[in-house]
Amino acid sequence: MAVTKTYSPETILEAYRAGHRVFGENRVQELTTKYEALPKDIEWHLVGHLQKNKVKYIIPFVAMIHAVDSVGLLQTVQKEAAKVNRIIPCLIQVHIAAEEHKFGFSYDEARELFKGALPSSLPHVQVCGLMGMATFTDDREQVRREFRGLAAFFREMKETVMRNVPSFTELSMGMSGDYPLAVEEGSTMVRVGSAIFGKR
Ligand SMILES: *Cc1c(COP(=O)(O)O)cnc(C)c1O
Repeated sequence: MAVTKTYSPETILEAYRAGHRVFGENRVQELTTKYEALPKDIEWHLVGHLQKNKVKYIIPFVAMIHAVDSVGLLQTVQKEAAKVNRIIPCLIQVHIAAEEHKFGFSYDEARELFKGALPSSLPHVQVCGLMGMATFTDDREQVRREFRGLAAFFREMKETVMRNVPSFTELSMGMSGDYPLAVEEGSTMVRVGSAIFGKR
C-alpha cells in the first residue's frame, strides 16, 4: 500500500495514473479530504491511530482500518458500520515496539480478545489479521525480532483460535525504512510512503 499522508492529490494522481489503487492515510481529516478529491475506484486504508469519535466520518468508504487498538474502538466501528450497512475489514494492532507511545494490544491482550466471543459478536466488523509497527531504530536485528515475533503470533492465532475465521489472512507490517525485513519475516501488506513519494 502507498501511504500518502502529507503528499498532495497531484502527487497521488501520478501513482494512480501509473496503475496503483491502494492508498493509506493516517489521519481521518486528510483521508476524507483526499477521498473526496480523488477518483472513486481508489481503495483507501486508514493506517494510523483512530479516535472513536471520528469513526463515523470514514465508515461510508474506508476499505480497511489497520490500527484497531481497543475493544471500545471495535464496538464503535460495529455501531457506525451497522448504520450504513457495511462490513468493515479491520486489523488488530499489536504493540511490538520498545517505545511506550506506540498504540496497540499486548500479545496477551490480543490473545484474550481472539479467545473471547467478542469478534464474532460484531457482525459489521470483519477481523482480517494483525498490524504492527517496529521500533524506530538502526538496530536491524531488533526490528527483525519484533517482526518475527508478530509473524509467529499471527501463525499461532491462525492455527488455533482464529482457524475458523477465513478472513484472518493479513499481516500488515513494514514501512519505508524496514519493509524488506518485514517481507522476509512474512508480511502480507507493507505500508510504504516516503520510499515511493520522496522525503516529506
Ligand atoms: C506514515 C506511516 C507509514 C509509512 O511511513 P513511511 O516511512 O513514509 O513509509 C506506515 N504506517 C503508518 C501507520 C504510518 O503512519
